[in-house]
Amino acid sequence: MGKAIRKIGKCSECGTITEHHARGLCVNCYNRQLRQRHREVCRQLRIRDKAYFLENFKTIKPNSATSDKNGYKVVVFKNFSTYEHRWIMMKEMGRPLFGWETVHHINGNKLDNRPKNLTLFLTNFIDA
Ligand SMILES: [Zn+2]
Repeated sequence: MGKAIRKIGKCSECGTITEHHARGLCVNCYNRQLRQRHREVCRQLRIRDKAYFLENFKTIKPNSATSDKNGYKVVVFKNFSTYEHRWIMMKEMGRPLFGWETVHHINGNKLDNRPKNLTLFLTNFIDA
């Protein structure tokens, strides 16, 4: 195992004549492909784990908790996260929430996620 000898050649993606990095690609195209593949893998994992969450929201346990930039509590599951107040409302309702259903904090304190402080609103149904 020595230092890899790189050949000068044409990148099969962008056509630049340069040192081949790997797979017949220049270093830029190779890194771009890696990033795209990584993004795609992450996307698939998020879809899979969101589906798992929606099937198991009654019993699933978060891996950790954090908060978003607006100060709302966020529960973090494997490759998926959601607002804690939405998750608590799901458990109260016994079903997942639709995208148009918004959970409000009755007393205005967004850290107070007790079920009795949460109420469900329907948004964007009628926009008159
Ligand atoms: Zn290239």
